[in-house]
Amino acid sequence: MEIAIISGKGGTGKSSISAAFATLQNEIVLADCDVDAANLYLLFNPVCDEEYAFVSGQKAVINQEKCDSCGACIDYCRFDAIVEKNHKVTVLETLCDGCILCSRICPFEAINIVNEDKSRMYAGYFQNGRMVYGRLAPGEENSGRLVNLVREKAKTIAKEAGIKNIIIDGPPGIGCPVISTITGVDIVVIVTEPTLSGLHDLKRTLEITAGFTLHTNVIINKFDINPDMTSRIETYCNQTGIQVIGKLPFDPLIVEAMVNCQSITDYAPDSDISSLLKNTYSKIITV
Ligand code: SF4
Ligand code: SF4
Repeated sequence: MEIAIISGKGGTGKSSISAAFATLQNEIVLADCDVDAANLYLLFNPVCDEEYAFVSGQKAVINQEKCDSCGACIDYCRFDAIVEKNHKVTVLETLCDGCILCSRICPFEAINIVNEDKSRMYAGYFQNGRMVYGRLAPGEENSGRLVNLVREKAKTIAKEAGIKNIIIDGPPGIGCPVISTITGVDIVVIVTEPTLSGLHDLKRTLEITAGFTLHTNVIINKFDINPDMTSRIETYCNQTGIQVIGKLPFDPLIVEAMVNCQSITDYAPDSDISSLLKNTYSKIITV
């Protein structure tokens, strides 16, 4: 069973909750699909025995020894990715789309198209089972494709090792990487917080999950910091037929656990917040 934990926005506590769920049972596969800002590997320090380069795209590189500074490529590049700086024609990596046009028109064959391959996917072991995660290098794109690779690897590992459950820590937002995260999973858990922007982002996220056939649940994190807004979120979920499967209070122990590089359920297993998380997780996996 694949369980994806997502949130319409960052900072809702999604990763802390994913970490807690991932440490509530042995023999789990944890897939960190927040490839733009993967952080669970910092918490669990997995031992990785597999590393794969991810080719996210291509970009142009100018061979300065061949370049005549004629400026033709500057005029042709419709992404404004080529500039002249200090009497040198150079490519601005972050703007280059890899369309290869410049390499075709350069009269001196001074432009090479190379793979962008600094992004990585890792697979290995952590304290409660197996872990897969991706790290998109700064400036590289196609995070949705890297999310797909992480999920495929997690599924392969689960199948080969006979592991039943995969916990996916998804990316924030509602873009392409989120679609890649939830496509084909069994259960989606949306973590929200009781603020106006939290409700707004929850609505947008539910619009996306509505396009899929899957169980969708909501967790309201820090529900006690704004009871009125919590009530509005609950009313909205009731009206749209979405179950609020857990309400978690603000608890400084969660931050303490993170500072100590542990999930809250490992750091304070007998605390009220850990009991609530255990209870919420058992409800999720028994739907
Ligand atoms: S077209 Fe070729 S030779 Fe002319 S500036 Fe660009 S890289 Fe240099
Ligand atoms: S590959 Fe395309 S986008 Fe990149 S510098 Fe060349 S013309 Fe511009």
